[in-house]
Amino acid sequence: MAKKDYYEVLGVTKEATQDDVKKAYRRLAKKWHPDLHKDDRAQAEKMFKELTEAYEVLSDAEKRAMYDRYGFVGDQTPPTYRTATTGRESGSVFNDFFGGQPMGDIFDMFFGSQGHATRVRPEDASVRMGEDLQITVQVALKDVMRGFDEEIEYERYTACESCKGNGSKDGNSFRTCSQCGGRGAIIQETRTLIGNISSSRTCPKCRGTGKVIEESCPVCKGNGRLAERKKIRIKIPAGAEDQMRLRIAGAGNAGIGGGGAGDLYVMIRVQPHRNIKRQGKDLYSEVGVSYLQAILGGTIEVETLEGSVSYKLDAGTQPNETIRLRGKGLPDLRSGLLGDHYVTVKVTIPKRLNKKERKLLEEIAALKNEPVEQEVG
Ligand SMILES: [Zn+2]
Ligand SMILES: [Zn+2]
Repeated sequence: MAKKDYYEVLGVTKEATQDDVKKAYRRLAKKWHPDLHKDDRAQAEKMFKELTEAYEVLSDAEKRAMYDRYGFVGDQTPPTYRTATTGRESGSVFNDFFGGQPMGDIFDMFFGSQGHATRVRPEDASVRMGEDLQITVQVALKDVMRGFDEEIEYERYTACESCKGNGSKDGNSFRTCSQCGGRGAIIQETRTLIGNISSSRTCPKCRGTGKVIEESCPVCKGNGRLAERKKIRIKIPAGAEDQMRLRIAGAGNAGIGGGGAGDLYVMIRVQPHRNIKRQGKDLYSEVGVSYLQAILGGTIEVETLEGSVSYKLDAGTQPNETIRLRGKGLPDLRSGLLGDHYVTVKVTIPKRLNKKERKLLEEIAALKNEPVEQEVG
């Protein structure tokens, strides 16, 4: 028997507002409530059912749009209906109406991504990519100067060779899954207010493959993967930045059921240098010089990442003046261009002088006409 159009049932037009729909339902539901039709109960129940079903759909903007687009959903058998003979059940129908009992799940089941009762393709459900892994490598700042190769060792899962990664003995000990009969999916019938709806879900026993392992692989105990310690050589690039991640494609965990391996990420932690700070490709440090070197000039030793270098300090160098050592910084990661090393001059003033030093300095002060403290005695 064909169903009546929901709009027709409620006696409203396609343009009816939510309020129109609600009013129409309220009026008709009161009129056809089975409790008010003792003589004509069967007919009243049928009408009441139809009204409620129409209301459930048309009062919900989303379901209404679905209905406008697709018409009735599910098969055409009459919906199950909580009979309105007992007070509680009768009340609950009205509560549904006034409280707006959601029916979304049923529609989601039908129209959602899992909705149509199609078989799940077995190969999809059982294949899984291997996980990505991450390890950390500590690098000294001076090694960032040139970059280098390093052998690292880490734990990962690798595909079991004995079963080719499928977990069955010799890779071919399978039988048909008893739970789904080999289809890989389980069909579920759900009785709902708007009819029986069948949906399918992936079989949990065989994970959609339709077959289960008869005898497990003795090597990997059916896991399909084995833990191993893996050694690889990695290249730390010149100019590597702290917290930079290198990606080594396919060096992560092996996949399952033929899924690809994950990647290995190598996190580089550049250890701070005791005296030299880094900012991008430039370096910064300080050098202490005596007041005499600052005044008279002279050759000083400056610490760089590649050992100390001699530097000719100009006479009259001021405190906190910056020396620039061109090309003594780090290489730029992309361009390879070298940065500079900036050295701030810290002039040290002696705290104590011997007699002779003092005398000579007092002479200079007298020469410059500077009033200075004279040593007593
Ligand atoms: Zn199954
Ligand atoms: Zn195995």
